[in-house]
Amino acid sequence: VIKVQGLIFRDKAQFELGEKDIPKISTPTDVLLEVKYAGICGTDLNIFWGNHPANPNTILGHEYTGIVKEVGNAVTCVKPGDKVVIDPNIKCSTCFYCRNNMENQCNLLDKGNALGIFRDGGFAKYNLAPESTVYKIPHDMPYESAVLVEPLSCIVNALNIAKIKPDDTVVVLGAGPIGLLFTNIVHHIASMTIVTELEELRIERAKKYANYVFNPKEINVEEKIKKLTDGVMGDVVIDATGVLFDDAIKLVKKGGKIILFGMNYGYKGSIHPYLITRKEIKIFGSYIANKTIMPAIKLLYHNKIDVNHYISEILPLDEIFLGFKKLGLDVEAKKKVPVEALKIVIKIGG
Ligand SMILES: [Zn+2]
Ligand SMILES: [Zn+2]
Repeated sequence: VIKVQGLIFRDKAQFELGEKDIPKISTPTDVLLEVKYAGICGTDLNIFWGNHPANPNTILGHEYTGIVKEVGNAVTCVKPGDKVVIDPNIKCSTCFYCRNNMENQCNLLDKGNALGIFRDGGFAKYNLAPESTVYKIPHDMPYESAVLVEPLSCIVNALNIAKIKPDDTVVVLGAGPIGLLFTNIVHHIASMTIVTELEELRIERAKKYANYVFNPKEINVEEKIKKLTDGVMGDVVIDATGVLFDDAIKLVKKGGKIILFGMNYGYKGSIHPYLITRKEIKIFGSYIANKTIMPAIKLLYHNKIDVNHYISEILPLDEIFLGFKKLGLDVEAKKKVPVEALKIVIKIGG
């Protein structure tokens, strides 16, 4: 049996560069991919710390792009040689939610079946994906752009929910790759974009698009936004971190919207329903992509996103632990270290 090297999630706080069998087409709708690039996501770090569920012994990597090697005999949307990106979340297409424009709430997803989290994903040279998850991209679309399709598709879904208007003040909490992608798009629409972030590197990056970037360690953000908005506060507050709900409540205007995007299973927050009722605050969850893979491909293909602004470094699979380290996780020592990078992309195939 021929093996493939991959980043395997063994158990909580156990990542290993190990080997698994090269996958084979086993159903008529399978697509065998040669993975080219895969991004490290905050979710991968959450999986390590036990703040996001995942199946043990799974090859991680849910943001990936590559080339079709082989297809099952029922596959019609791609052929060998096509360049593709993956929507890692496998949907059934027939449940109540799939049939009512909410495929991101598909009943199948409750069972946990995402590629790169519950089934083998893109941190390995070969990957087996169902046809429904495979999207063909233009042959001249760079892999550096394609690898951002999955995270951007989730952001497009959140923006569809947020319905930002031209006179809005939008507050983005957190300027990691996700917060920065939000800021990049939001500043084209909203009149004022304000970002909060603790890490110096990310603060500098956010300044390219935001009107104001505040470090809550140094500045009373609530007071600042009060001043900037004549006491009104943010029309829309986006929590890109998953742990700043309490801040969002303080920073949103009466009748304003909070978009909860970042996910952290361990964080509960303190909900004070009185404030939500009194101020008629509208709270929206935004989960993964909902028919937004193709819009994300379009945005990236037409160069609306400066990918070099997000991708700090492209490393080979052998050096993936270095990539995690730059993102604040020392895998071997099992401890947190200072963040030194934004998006880290792993180059997988030759
Ligand atoms: Zn992700
Ligand atoms: Zn479904």
